[in-house]
Amino acid sequence: VEDLTEARRIEAVRRDFVANVSHELKTPVGALSLLSEAVMDAAEDPEAVNRFAGRMQIEATRLTSLVQEIIDLSRVQDDDALVDAEPVAVDDLVAEAVDRCRQPANSKQIIMATGTTPDLFIWGNRGQLAAALGNLVENAVNYSPARTRVGIAGRRISAAGGDLIEISVTDQGIGISERDRERVFERFYRVDPARSRATGGTGLGLSIVKHVAASHGGEVTVWSAEGQGSTFTLRLPEAGRGRPAEPET
Ligand code: ADP
Repeated sequence: VEDLTEARRIEAVRRDFVANVSHELKTPVGALSLLSEAVMDAAEDPEAVNRFAGRMQIEATRLTSLVQEIIDLSRVQDDDALVDAEPVAVDDLVAEAVDRCRQPANSKQIIMATGTTPDLFIWGNRGQLAAALGNLVENAVNYSPARTRVGIAGRRISAAGGDLIEISVTDQGIGISERDRERVFERFYRVDPARSRATGGTGLGLSIVKHVAASHGGEVTVWSAEGQGSTFTLRLPEAGRGRPAEPET
């Protein structure tokens, strides 16, 4: 019964998103078009050109992030993620997530520090797991000031039902208040829409992460201290050597 509710929930997320997305896409595309005209008109004024170019970069980032969310959502659409489950190397997931954030991390001079113990494999759907970790790392970069550090760590932990793989993403960013911590996993929930506007999110990322974790028989949790940073932790079933671990149903 719980599975069905969850499937309905994600279907509702998808429908809302499709309804909103054409509008969401129009905003940055329109802004980019106006800004490029403004750049041409301001050719004689290097300061203005610079200012417009900076705003173009913000709109382009927003567009990239929206497109990435569309890709992620199409990945979590499958009714049963675990039909395509396979052992997925944690190192590959981490490398892909880092790659996805390379550009914004570089421009903010954020150091990406990864440390995983060798030979960790998760039993799951590769595309969905990549979407989940990618979102967490993207948020860590988005909600951190320049010249800070984002750490991604992976290890094996033992639990009652079998070994789990734990991947944590730690940032030194703005943090999340206790009140908001309960709500950030809700679809479309954003702590400060005005301030986070520039980061180009839609408030869907963490609801996708939560859905992926749950459908894999795992969980995602958050620790945070306001003004100091946050740690998001994914715990997912390990793929046993030779024999896949049986995910919880
Ligand atoms: P989006 O990032 O698209 O807004 P998410 O669902 O990924 O949506 O996140 C929801 C909200 O949670 C964000 O708008 C932001 O306010 C907050 N948040 C998420 N990750 C972090 C983080 N690492 N540090 C601080 N705030 C965060």
